[in-house]
Amino acid sequence: MPDVRDVIIIGSGPAGLTAAIYTARANLAPLVIEGEPSSTTDQPGGQLMLTTEVENYPGFVDGIQGPELMDAFRKQAARFGAEYLTAKVTRVDFSVRPFKLWIGEEELPTRSVVVATGAQSLMLGLPNELELVGHGVSTCATCDGFFFRGHPIAVVGGGDSAMEEALFLTKFADKVSIVHRRDSLRASKIMQERAFANPKIEFVWDSVVTGLKGKEKLEGLQLTNLKTGEESDFDATGLFVAIGHVPNTGLFKGQLEMDENGYLVTHDGSRTNVDGVFACGDVQDHIYRQAITAAGSGCMAAIDAERWLESQPHEHHIEPTTTDW
Ligand code: NAP
Repeated sequence: MPDVRDVIIIGSGPAGLTAAIYTARANLAPLVIEGEPSSTTDQPGGQLMLTTEVENYPGFVDGIQGPELMDAFRKQAARFGAEYLTAKVTRVDFSVRPFKLWIGEEELPTRSVVVATGAQSLMLGLPNELELVGHGVSTCATCDGFFFRGHPIAVVGGGDSAMEEALFLTKFADKVSIVHRRDSLRASKIMQERAFANPKIEFVWDSVVTGLKGKEKLEGLQLTNLKTGEESDFDATGLFVAIGHVPNTGLFKGQLEMDENGYLVTHDGSRTNVDGVFACGDVQDHIYRQAITAAGSGCMAAIDAERWLESQPHEHHIEPTTTDW
């Protein structure tokens, strides 16, 4: 049987890496299973790897690039003994003790688990969309809105997220166009009313974005009206995609409690319904979704895991006595 770890952290965004810093400093020698670089959704470092400048992470007066920030987190945890495995967890069994995780055929037993697998923004699926993320295309107005001061901005979506993003963006832009595929909104009444009442917001109904112009940066959109089939060019150098998020929780179906949208349910800090399994970051937070809140919850999960481990009988710390033979 392979060595039983004290703690395995699944995910390496701000939540997972903060949990790694704290558990490493608590001498728990965490193993971080960080994801796979080939993937756009499970890449090591999480969603910050898809952003450019981060200006709202406290401590960086002049801002910092997302990937650079994650690299610093990673090195900081490594300094205290965190180990990394560049791979994806393919299966978990939380019904046995120690818990079991698998990477393909390789089995990894562990006494406790911190789940920090994050969430991903749903994207439109246009050919050059991912290349333009950070260069005109964004999924987070709170993160990137400031860079679009004075730009013509479009927001795609008709839900609460789209309304919230559009309202926030009116602080920076003179005009924000909400492009929605139907002629009525899904958003809650109050958010709809706020958006309708804002003179800077205009609606482009029954329309979808079918093309993104520009190579190095976004230079304009192509829209298609779904009712008439008419195609048109649309002037926007900022595009905020707000068509929903999905938490990365497929791995835990049937084992960890989730809400109706698939987010992990936590209680008393970072505890899940399974004693010894903790969750932090966007995988359990659909409200704040910030690097700093994810990092904060990663710290909570590490402290919760450390205290929980201390409360457990430590079979590996018991010295064998003659009667054991
Ligand atoms: P959502 O409610 O699922 O809305 C997604 C929107 O995107 C819908 O209008 C949908 O159109 C549209 N859409 C989906 N796929 C699309 C595609 N491929 N192309 C174009 N449009 C597409 O997601 P959300 O707005 O992120 O909200 C998620 C949950 O969080 C909701 O329960 C929401 O109430 C909550 N939330 C609350 C607040 C708040 O209260 N302040 C803020 C944000 C989120 P259709 O309408 O045609 O399906």
